[in-house]
Amino acid sequence: MADSHSPMDYAARQKKLAAALPSAGVDTLLVTHLPNVRYLCGFSGTAGVLLVAGSGRNAKCTFYTDGRYTQQAADEVQNAKIVITKKAAFTDACAAVARTSIKVLGFEADHLSYAAHRQLAGILRGKVRLKAVAGRVEELRLCKDAEEIGQIRASALVAASLFQAALGAIRAGVSENLVAGEMELQARRAGAEKMSFDTIVAAGPRSALPHGRASSQPVPGNGFIILDWGVILAGYCSDMTRTVHVGPVSAARRRMYEAVRAAQLASIESVRPGVTAGEVDRVGRDLLKKAGYGAYFTHSTGHGVGLEVHEAPRLAKDQSLKLAPGMVVTIEPGIYIPDEGGVRIEDMVLVTESGREVLTPTTKDLITL
Ligand code: ZN
Ligand code: ZN
Repeated sequence: MADSHSPMDYAARQKKLAAALPSAGVDTLLVTHLPNVRYLCGFSGTAGVLLVAGSGRNAKCTFYTDGRYTQQAADEVQNAKIVITKKAAFTDACAAVARTSIKVLGFEADHLSYAAHRQLAGILRGKVRLKAVAGRVEELRLCKDAEEIGQIRASALVAASLFQAALGAIRAGVSENLVAGEMELQARRAGAEKMSFDTIVAAGPRSALPHGRASSQPVPGNGFIILDWGVILAGYCSDMTRTVHVGPVSAARRRMYEAVRAAQLASIESVRPGVTAGEVDRVGRDLLKKAGYGAYFTHSTGHGVGLEVHEAPRLAKDQSLKLAPGMVVTIEPGIYIPDEGGVRIEDMVLVTESGREVLTPTTKDLITL
């Protein structure tokens, strides 16, 4: 595994979570969301749960997985007792809880299905009280530590390097899929595990679709192309967008592009510790409104990026959360005009002690091909 010897400080993360459990009203938390499991103990496989018990200032962690992951768990899991279960990790972990003196077990309300909750309640049979806990691990994940920032930085640089592959592939008549394929091949060559989401290549009128996944449609002779992509490197995601134009650009389209660029730069400039997520959204949105495009900016300004490509915080209207050093967010305003086309520009931005640092250093001048 790529990061089996990573210097991530799992013990510190577990301790912080354990310290937060009393205020959540539970003595133990059943962590089922895999990115949270990975964050807390390093396991990168696809089946496993972690029980985190808080006792005073210490955390006691037990990781459950099945026989398919015996080797991987031994290689990756740190600071937790490993239990290889005969049946599903989830049910065996629940059965283990039922045999202890735990009084209140927290479960991750945002990540446990109704069916799984019923199964859990059935195994505990009233002996242990179940309590919904929301966002406690996600809160810890908001501010990245130095090791995480290093990984995210590397992931963003690999993503940025794919833009050249896209530019080399784009020409009228080639399919969007082919452009995405060239980018994805380059990602693999650069060491990425995979893309962090289905690559968006939306050409011509399709660029008016904010999430136009690459399709078999050919690139038309004249129009915008939105490229939105990212990779996963050592578990950490990247996410960026550039818009280019094929053929001569009309004055109206150039104006549209420059409006998005100005809004994006203004929102980036507003990023600093203490500013609210809503304010970062407002700054760019106001500029687009003033330029007459307000109705065409139909989504929020950005989101956090880390072990997941979309995670907290949300940079959207009226969000009161204050940015803090170590947060990594995207800034990605856009304009989408039906039947005409769209423009979006997205960078990843690290909140620093004194302001911000853009992690995706790719030109934002309008490129015509
Ligand atoms: Zn994106
Ligand atoms: Zn994004």
